[in-house]
Amino acid sequence: MPTSPPTPAQLLATPVQYLKGVGPERAELLHKLGLKTAADVLFHFPREYQDFTDQREMNQLEEGKLQSVRGVIEDIDFRPTSSGGSVLGVLVRGAAGYLRALWFNQPYQREKFSLGQRVLLSGKPKYEGLVWQMAHPRVETLAEEEEEPKTKILPVYPLTEGVQQWHLRKIVRQALEGYVDLLDEVFPPEYLETHDLWPIRRALPEIHFPASQENLEHARRRFVYQELFLLQLALAVKRRRQHDQRQAPRLEATAKIDARIRRLFPFELTPGQENAIAEIRADMAGPRPMNRLLQGDVGSGKTIVAVYALLLAVAHGYQAVLMAPTEVLARQHAQTIEKILAASQVRRVQLIGGMPSEKRAALVNLIAEGQADVVVGTQAIIQEDVAFAKLGLVVIDEQHKFGVRQRAVLKGQAGRVEGRESRVENKDQTSNPRPSTLDSRPSPLALRPSTFDSILDPHYLVMTATPIPRTVALTLFGDLDVSTLRDAPPGRQTVHTYLAGDAQRAKWWDFFRRKLREGRQGYVVTPLVEESDRTAAVSVEETFEALANGELADFRLGLIHGRMTAEEKDAVMENFRRGEIQVLVSTSVVEVGVDVPNATLMTIESGQRFGLAQLHQLRGRIHRGRYPGFCCVFGEPKTEESQERLKAFISTTDGFALAETDFRLRGPGELFGTRQHGLPPLRIADLLLDGEVLEEARRDAQALVAADPGLSCPEHALLRRRMAHLYGQVLELGDVG
Ligand code: ADP
Ligand code: MG
Repeated sequence: MPTSPPTPAQLLATPVQYLKGVGPERAELLHKLGLKTAADVLFHFPREYQDFTDQREMNQLEEGKLQSVRGVIEDIDFRPTSSGGSVLGVLVRGAAGYLRALWFNQPYQREKFSLGQRVLLSGKPKYEGLVWQMAHPRVETLAEEEEEPKTKILPVYPLTEGVQQWHLRKIVRQALEGYVDLLDEVFPPEYLETHDLWPIRRALPEIHFPASQENLEHARRRFVYQELFLLQLALAVKRRRQHDQRQAPRLEATAKIDARIRRLFPFELTPGQENAIAEIRADMAGPRPMNRLLQGDVGSGKTIVAVYALLLAVAHGYQAVLMAPTEVLARQHAQTIEKILAASQVRRVQLIGGMPSEKRAALVNLIAEGQADVVVGTQAIIQEDVAFAKLGLVVIDEQHKFGVRQRAVLKGQAGRVEGRESRVENKDQTSNPRPSTLDSRPSPLALRPSTFDSILDPHYLVMTATPIPRTVALTLFGDLDVSTLRDAPPGRQTVHTYLAGDAQRAKWWDFFRRKLREGRQGYVVTPLVEESDRTAAVSVEETFEALANGELADFRLGLIHGRMTAEEKDAVMENFRRGEIQVLVSTSVVEVGVDVPNATLMTIESGQRFGLAQLHQLRGRIHRGRYPGFCCVFGEPKTEESQERLKAFISTTDGFALAETDFRLRGPGELFGTRQHGLPPLRIADLLLDGEVLEEARRDAQALVAADPGLSCPEHALLRRRMAHLYGQVLELGDVG
């Protein structure tokens, strides 16, 4: 029987071993780079490029311009300097003269060179004492058989031990020759045309061996666009499933409801808060579940915005949940709400961990019976036994503090609510509709029985005080709408930040005491210390002891840490809020959300052990009131990164600027847990550089999903397959594919 010829897909799956110039031994090495097939090699993108476009003879060099020269190594000299450093000099002879390449304090460079070697150097030359010099040039070693690089811009690939740069280049070049024409184009031809994208068969060779910088840009654009587009497409599909195809109660903020809510508020809202509320109102008035992220720097006033949304749901006879990641924070929210609602009939319930079981059971029962309107709490709200009678809104504060699993459970909770909802709704119809507490009219839904046939989802609002660069927000939370609070409430004072060493301690505590005597309060925060780490840092208890018997002996100190029970923590927090405790010594439990405007002093111990976002959160604790804040970070940054981090921290109080810095220092994956989100890493797109392409890809993806919701047109089949392959599972896109 004749065997049919292999399909393009089969050919692209050819093991690397069978590529020209590879063989079994080198195949092993390539496997270490994750290169198993011909297709893997094709898509092994360069890490960077060496640009040797401007190649000159030695007698044509110009000072201060990036140029390249070619030649043979004639001499190598290496000498230590009097100051303890070293200078490596490599003399290169070209066709028309000599050039000396220099490396300062990089002794390891020496091993790279040998006499007689042919090299291509690129850098900015300088004419020094009758000879051209180049400091720290880029070096390309030319292989024996390599006459001259075919292109002037050479790819630099990620390598592994035993694989040379020139060798990998050769393998890639050969793979391109043999296989590039087998690749399928995912975009329809007109699409490429209208979006200024190069076809894959043109773009791929140019991303490896660009003929010019312009070509490289064009080729790169195609791959960046494709990568971001597929992700945005997946997010748009997910959004459609979670949003466009679901129903939620329409909770309109009528003029009357709006006035009733605002009457309760203790202050005028800022324009930013007004804006966010307007966006939330528009969402909640619609028939689809709100799916919104409210981001705002620490102290920007997110809570009141959330309270507005909670009361809007309650006004329509729905239950609303506000969930916080810590008990301290949940308790504080409960108090805020208590104050605002003191005179109203809204029924409030607080559900946190570690409650006596009868008490908990009673509360859970109230919730199930619809006798609780606003439920504030911690993860305790999402336990098995909690079910809501009529849930209209879920607000999650500091959502990044919750684990992925908890978030998933919460979504599941919403699902379980649905089942009960119709049952309870039906009961409501037969009994008298319960009058809403903010608005005495019966719930509008109760008057429209037809909607009870469908299942309703609650509206969903998540809040975060970790400002996220827009590109990251669009990527990680691309399925959410985003509201941003940029302005701080009026009258906000500045915070002064200092980075100090042990020598300045006495002076700082002097100042600290003086401010306490003026009536202010303060925090002293220490990092969490593991048992194994005890020699390197002191625990919060030890810090407390030392201060109580030393620097702050004259003041009332409180201690708070993670191993205390909820009641103990609450008692301490409450005393601090009331001013009975003047100084709170604590681990980073005060990091998020704690709001005591009279506290204006912050001491952070071992600052290098905190992340930038965490430091910023801590400082946010003293950036709330009418008084200026003073934050002193003690620390000995050991790594360059921690040095940069602390430097950035003292240089600005703008959370968005800090987020960008953090992003630059640590990369988006680390920072926002792409891995936590389960998203595969971006291979070529760079969220710092490719913001514009991202916006474009996002718009295009949304337009495509709007036009072809199921991606069922034949010309979108390949896009759909790729998307499902990359993101189907992590984004739970179900049967798309
Ligand atoms: P965060 O966004 O960090 O959660 P909060 O909601 O805790 O901020 O608000 C910080 C402080 O600012 C609180 O003391 C709050 O009462 C106050 N606040 C919020 N909005 C306003 C406003 N519009 N006018 C005056 N004070 C406000
Ligand atoms: Mg908050």
